[in-house]
Amino acid sequence: MQIHRRQFEIIQEHAIGEHPYECCGLMAGYRRANRKGETETVVCEIAPCTNVLYSGREHGFEISYSEYVDVEREARSMGLEIVGSYHSHIDSAAVPSNNDINFARPGHSMLIIALEHRIPAGVTSWLRRDVGGFHQEPIRVEEAGKG
Ligand SMILES: [Zn+2]
Repeated sequence: MQIHRRQFEIIQEHAIGEHPYECCGLMAGYRRANRKGETETVVCEIAPCTNVLYSGREHGFEISYSEYVDVEREARSMGLEIVGSYHSHIDSAAVPSNNDINFARPGHSMLIIALEHRIPAGVTSWLRRDVGGFHQEPIRVEEAGKG
């Protein structure tokens, strides 16, 4: 996954701002084939969303269908698609929970930012392939003005 520094900072700021609850949001961009012919996700825009989980927001999240549809419409108006979601983990590792694995959509990336004592402590991204399971993918943060 490729993401610009500013978008990466928005995710970090959102995670810290929602502490002690998990933050969540959607990522818009596009997918392309890299030199090895593998699919690579490029994140262009971040859409912070409301965690609508009724209880247990300290260790779970839910994005409403209506907010998802709104973000999808806005992304398409910019020529982009929703390429995945992000959320935070509070004082636990940046590893997908069983609920996370169920939430992940085929072809989408899931970025997880772990906070320890309110400080970002690790970031991972996971890609559910259209065929062939759920795998960790590298994250490349692009500095401003590049890519
Ligand atoms: Zn999670």
